[in-house]
Amino acid sequence: MSTYAILTSGGDSPGMNCAIRAFTRTLIYSGHNVFGVKKGYQGLISGDFIQLSASSVGNILQRGGTFLQSSRSEEFKEKKFREIAYEKLKEHKIDGLAVVGGDGSFKGAYALWEDFNFPVVGIPGTIDNDISGTDYTIGHDTAVQTAVDAVDKIRDTAFSHDRVFLIEVMGRRSSSIAIKTALCSGAENVVLPNKDIDYEDLVQSIKRGEQRGKKGSIFIVAEGATEGRSYNIQKVLSSKYGISSRVCILGHIQRGGSPSPHDRLIATEMGFLAAETFLKFDEPKVIRLKNGKISTALLSQCLTNDDGIDIEHIEVIKKISI
Ligand code: ADP
Repeated sequence: MSTYAILTSGGDSPGMNCAIRAFTRTLIYSGHNVFGVKKGYQGLISGDFIQLSASSVGNILQRGGTFLQSSRSEEFKEKKFREIAYEKLKEHKIDGLAVVGGDGSFKGAYALWEDFNFPVVGIPGTIDNDISGTDYTIGHDTAVQTAVDAVDKIRDTAFSHDRVFLIEVMGRRSSSIAIKTALCSGAENVVLPNKDIDYEDLVQSIKRGEQRGKKGSIFIVAEGATEGRSYNIQKVLSSKYGISSRVCILGHIQRGGSPSPHDRLIATEMGFLAAETFLKFDEPKVIRLKNGKISTALLSQCLTNDDGIDIEHIEVIKKISI
């Protein structure tokens, strides 16, 4: 009989609970013990472990967020604190740790392997869908659905009042939520993160619409480096082009909510495979979705951010928003 642990780290995402549940039950089914670590790496350092049972992970499948809670831990980036975390893992006789999170969390997991040869497996959980090596990260579908629902509602008022709306969605470094939300909500244009803003193009989108009697325009803006970027765009549209617009920042509502069936399915399959991966562990892996199949990849190949920016989708938005 072995003992494994699971934690959730970085930004929470809908579906993390499904991964915890599947991981825990798969290992208990095979006769092993499972601990949950509260509040990510911070809980690992402070020794905040709770034993999980089949019933303690019951009734969490449909809940957003993570019942183990999450955190960002600057301390864990220092080896002396990782040593403390390693001691806590040994105290609880843990044989392997599953980490649900983004590329930052994976770097933390990989550091445990490099420092102490401690077995780790990563499960991609972030609404941004921006980890290299996997086509999908848990929570992305639900976040896009939330954003699209919100844009649909805003469109009603945009068109009732002939207004231009700048709707800001999450995505510091990632374009995925912005591009998919723009496509699915019929937005007139999309502003991507970390790119120079093409104001002439935005103004052309508005003018094209006006020429064929379109009432109102919706622009989806990825937040980029700082939330509130849309207010700067609003100022330039007004001062340079005399165009008045309204800003709506969707913010954290995109992180919450009950996971979509797609997220529940992928998270459950990923949690299951993470458990199975520990049972024949050789080196750190990430559970990924690749070419429509859940499989494993080396953790060392999934430590970077990958925007996965889809140029073809941008082309589609441009052509069909005429
Ligand atoms: P995400 O996992 O969503 O990308 P962060 O980048 O904030 O979120 O990372 C989550 C946590 O992972 C950090 O707060 C830190 O504890 C840990 N982490 C990130 N980078 C490293 C690193 N280079 N070494 C060790 N731990 C790290």
